[in-house]
Amino acid sequence: MNADDIIAHTLAGDIHCPLCVVQTMIARRELSPAARDGDAAAAPDQHAGANAIDRDDERSFDSWDIPNIAFASEVQDSDVCGACAELII
Ligand SMILES: [Zn+2]
Repeated sequence: MNADDIIAHTLAGDIHCPLCVVQTMIARRELSPAARDGDAAAAPDQHAGANAIDRDDERSFDSWDIPNIAFASEVQDSDVCGACAELII
C-alpha cells in the first residue's frame, strides 16, 4: 500500500470504508443501488463528477455531506469504519 492510496473516506464526521460510503450514499439516494455492483472506491468520484464537485479541493465542499478522501498516510492502524466497525487498514 502506498501513502497516497485512497483507502477510506470521511463522511458525516466519521471515517468510512469504501463499501460503507457507497451504502450510505445509496441510502441518501445520492447513488443508484447499482453502485453496489461497481468499483466502491470509484463511486464517490463518479458522484462528485456528476455534481461538479472537486474532491481534490476539500475546502470547496462540506465533508459532512460529500465523502472526503482519506489517504493511507492519514489512516491509523486502529481506525475502524464508523458504519461497519471493521478496521480500515
Ligand atoms: Zn465499513
